[in-house]
Amino acid sequence: MILLVKSGGEETVPRWRAEFLAADPRLDVRWWDDPSVRPGEVRYVVVWDPEPGRLAALPNLRVVFSSAAGVDNILRDPDWPAHLPLVRMGGEEQAQRMAEFVTWACLGLLRGARLMAANQEASRWKQFAARHTAGERRVGILGLGNLGRAAAAMLRGVSFPVAGWSRSRKVVEGVESFAGAGELDAFLARTDILVCLLPATPETAGLIDAALLAKLPRGAQLVNVGRGGHLVEADLLAALDGGHLAGALLDVFPEEPLPDSSPFWWHPKVTVTPHVASLPSLGSRARFVAAAIAAHERGAPLPNLYDPARGY
Ligand code: NAP
Repeated sequence: MILLVKSGGEETVPRWRAEFLAADPRLDVRWWDDPSVRPGEVRYVVVWDPEPGRLAALPNLRVVFSSAAGVDNILRDPDWPAHLPLVRMGGEEQAQRMAEFVTWACLGLLRGARLMAANQEASRWKQFAARHTAGERRVGILGLGNLGRAAAAMLRGVSFPVAGWSRSRKVVEGVESFAGAGELDAFLARTDILVCLLPATPETAGLIDAALLAKLPRGAQLVNVGRGGHLVEADLLAALDGGHLAGALLDVFPEEPLPDSSPFWWHPKVTVTPHVASLPSLGSRARFVAAAIAAHERGAPLPNLYDPARGY
């Protein structure tokens, strides 16, 4: 069964091949532009950003796997073959890595990590105590899905009080659940550190704007690990400079790599990370895809299926 890969460049193909060989030797892994592969032979693909029209030109394709949790780069294709199942990357390792990153980000905001890094750069020995302990900073997670739930559990483990906001009500031990647009304001009013783990959809685009930030308590902080399009960057800058927000950690941006001209690079209240919150290993991704293909081949349901009606 031929599986094409377009994720991380052609140089990563030998590593993908080795990982898939260990996971399921029936899978014949080839580079996306391998000239020896005839389009009709391709059954599965693992892709991050396929060129428009390329997927539609594979007549016997059975499933498209996104090499990441987001699928926005795939659905951007105007010729996207909408009848095909589209699976978002998943697996325990991805959730674990995201939970670790979000917990690190919240603890860093709590302890003033940005200021400590700047002081070290300037060889400045300046002691200061954190104003709060974790138990006194309420974290609110926008999006209580696979990754939001994993982050919530780890945050609870280090004593942060945690709530989540999602479309549907959730029952997660120790996590207060807010659901739908009608409960967003109450969720924001009890949130000191806002974490965005929403998918990119028309409803969530530009959600974190001036009006939303104004509903957070004064001194609140933001962690954006969802997508750059969730945040209105000018509104965040105004809230930071006006003193309503105390800090932010941004991992995702509308334009990546973040342009040199972005004020976030040098802003004293902002930590920038280069879209690295959760990059699962090739091995964990290959195991997830191989298990999903095996399920599909025996007629079992696919995991993490993109639902066009919901938009994620
Ligand atoms: P998921 O399992 O699909 O969860 C999405 C959550 O968002 C669900 O709880 C969903 O509510 C909620 N949601 C969606 N639309 C909403 C709306 N309009 N109003 C309220 N809640 C809404 O997705 P996931 O696997 O956790 O991944 C989340 C996102 O993380 C991805 O889409 C991707 O953009 C981002 N991500 C970033 C990185 C990184 O390195 N920075 C890595 C991986 C993923 P329901 O539960 O009610 O459906």
